[in-house]
Amino acid sequence: MTPVTVRVPAKVNLQLAVGPLRDDGFHDLANVFHAVSLFDEVTASPADSLTLRVEGESIEGVPTGDDNLAARAARLLAQQLGVPAHAALTIRKNIPVAGGMAGGSADAAAALVACARLWGADVDLRPLAARLGSDVPFALLGGTAIGTGRGEVLTPVQVSGRFHWVFALADGGLSTPAVYAECDRLREARGERPGPPQASPDLMAALAAGDAKALGAALANDLEPAALSLRPALRDTLEAGRAFGALGALVSGSGPTCAFLADSADHAESLVAALTEAGVARSVVAAHGPVPGATVL
Ligand code: ATP
Repeated sequence: MTPVTVRVPAKVNLQLAVGPLRDDGFHDLANVFHAVSLFDEVTASPADSLTLRVEGESIEGVPTGDDNLAARAARLLAQQLGVPAHAALTIRKNIPVAGGMAGGSADAAAALVACARLWGADVDLRPLAARLGSDVPFALLGGTAIGTGRGEVLTPVQVSGRFHWVFALADGGLSTPAVYAECDRLREARGERPGPPQASPDLMAALAAGDAKALGAALANDLEPAALSLRPALRDTLEAGRAFGALGALVSGSGPTCAFLADSADHAESLVAALTEAGVARSVVAAHGPVPGATVL
């Protein structure tokens, strides 16, 4: 048995349409996921127990025990296969933590793929991924896809070409449940009654055509008002990106990362420089999408 390393991307939600609160506490979603070239790596090495190490510059808040999603994924797979959960897992984190880019879900998907390979198991990982969390199946799949239900029922979307993105990472995370709760609170206070969530035809047409300008105009996130309510400074970040010529700007998922669409790789680099100079984020990085899901290196 030799160590297995899996690279897994972050996601940005090109559209996040949030339906009414369901009786089970979840919301129906129409969620257009897009995998981008910010990656974590998870290595699974032979061991005689389950251990976990987390490496990286900004890993504050990442649990190192049983509640780490990668460890939970390894345990769930072992249980399913009827084998002992013996693996030394190392996560190299590059995806912002609690940033609305599904880093924990990405690590869970990567751990499933790495442990399945380490233990020589040829199984369909998708049902296990769905049990681990709504965003985990997409981290396996990658590319661009519509997620319905809680976001875990995926339909791949055809995309022409490559889109260039800039991500402004904020200090500190936002809790996803807190952002959904704030979304419900704001809707209640405003007397808003959301209808069934639907993927936007304009967004689908822009993706199929590879039209960055149309995509920028179609980006939409129903959680954005809630994220801005909890973190008002993000308004300045979004405004700065628009002022520097971004084709579109939105909060990524539940935030606080902000995503900006550029019209070329060069434009993305100049946006990174301008936003860094403006001092509206902890750090600013360029990436492109779509990219594949969890992949063995
Ligand atoms: P999402 O976009 O899916 O809502 P997020 O990007 O906002 O998620 P994550 O980085 O996935 O947030 O982390 C959310 C919380 O999950 C963290 O605060 C942490 O407590 C927990 N967590 C568990 N496992 C991990 C992991 N491997 N990496 C990061 N966080 C993890």
